[in-house]
Amino acid sequence: MTERIPCRMEGCSATILPSTAAKTNGICMPCHQEQERKKRVAYIEKNRKTVNLYEGLADQVDILKVMHAPRKYDPLIQYAPFPIRKEKLYVSLSNQDAQRMLNYAIELLAVNKESEAQDILLALVCYRNENISIALPELIQRGLFQDPILFKDAPQDIRNQLIERVLWDEDNRNHLLLALGWIGDAKVINQYQEWQMHQPKWAEQLYVTPETYAVDGGWELTPNGERRNLVHQICFGIRQADHQDDVVIEENHARFLETSDSTCPWCNRKLTKLMVAATSHPALQYLDLQMENLQVITCELCGSFSVIYMELDKDGLPVWSRFNQEPVYLPDLDDVNSSTEPSPKLVLSKEPQSPYYAAVWTMSQLDSQIGGHPSWVQDPEYPVCPCCERRMQFLGQIDYADFDEYAEGIYYMFICSKDLITATIYQQS
Ligand SMILES: [Zn+2]
Ligand SMILES: [Zn+2]
Ligand SMILES: [Zn+2]
Repeated sequence: MTERIPCRMEGCSATILPSTAAKTNGICMPCHQEQERKKRVAYIEKNRKTVNLYEGLADQVDILKVMHAPRKYDPLIQYAPFPIRKEKLYVSLSNQDAQRMLNYAIELLAVNKESEAQDILLALVCYRNENISIALPELIQRGLFQDPILFKDAPQDIRNQLIERVLWDEDNRNHLLLALGWIGDAKVINQYQEWQMHQPKWAEQLYVTPETYAVDGGWELTPNGERRNLVHQICFGIRQADHQDDVVIEENHARFLETSDSTCPWCNRKLTKLMVAATSHPALQYLDLQMENLQVITCELCGSFSVIYMELDKDGLPVWSRFNQEPVYLPDLDDVNSSTEPSPKLVLSKEPQSPYYAAVWTMSQLDSQIGGHPSWVQDPEYPVCPCCERRMQFLGQIDYADFDEYAEGIYYMFICSKDLITATIYQQS
């Protein structure tokens, strides 16, 4: 039997065969591999080049084309980021340049660069609320229905095509029904109602009834067959005060993430005021609330396991609702790392943004906002008002990932302005 010899690496207790030692200069295989890895890392660090693909580009359209173009991964290349975020560039495009981007997306489709094209179309629709109807025939031709929001401004002939296609295109039926939800015009409303009254055979394979797809588009079909909106089109971003160059701090309009004086009856922690906002702000005026400020309160711990309702008194002071139902599971207090970090100072953007700005959660934008369409991380989930049993209206959302790179999860805020009840729900990936 061959005698094994100890690995020469300091701190390593492995022993190796002399034949291995001859190959690896006396060290064991794991140590050898670790050495090789370090050499590679050192080589990459020494030889890595920073490449600026934006150098010399002044045209915003050219810059955006580079941002969207797929990049080859090469460990020896580090790409310099562009100093302005993609969303911001889209918002600041002239109408003419937005048309150039739209035409570029259509050109990309023609050469089969479908996902790049769809990303550009999504950015135009969400960040700018741009009408991209001229691209829709090509999307249909190619069977590209996975981004239903792209169809929201579909002209009548295309809307009719989609309705007809729902009947036979089993593979895309789910996305087609979502697209109809985003269109939500009189014809779609009638069609949903008809499907509701005479449920088609194919509807048995769906998880929800066809008219429930309306909630993805931010509305619901009432029992009288009418459209009832669950979102408000006036939308303002919520941003970190010290990160803003385009925001004038208007402190008296709204405050966010403050600790409340009241305590959660389930976990005994202090409740959190997600938002305290002036009801006179343009994003909230439509609610026609008589109180000066609207407060939305939740428990940051229990609220991630359950809907938290708060009832507002006539002065707008929130009281823990008798309708709250303690969830079966709540974590032990000890399991929760209560953060000692102070909450970031958040303010409302000065200018409104597209109501679709954050409607697609998987895109790169900051999601926190008042008004507009929610960024659902999972399926849409409008809580039902415990008094009138209708879906509650979306007020706004705070995405913790916007302000903390290690945080995630979104708190969504809702109201029934008739019964003066607010609700929060929480989703994370
Ligand atoms: Zn070793
Ligand atoms: Zn609690
Ligand atoms: Zn109600």
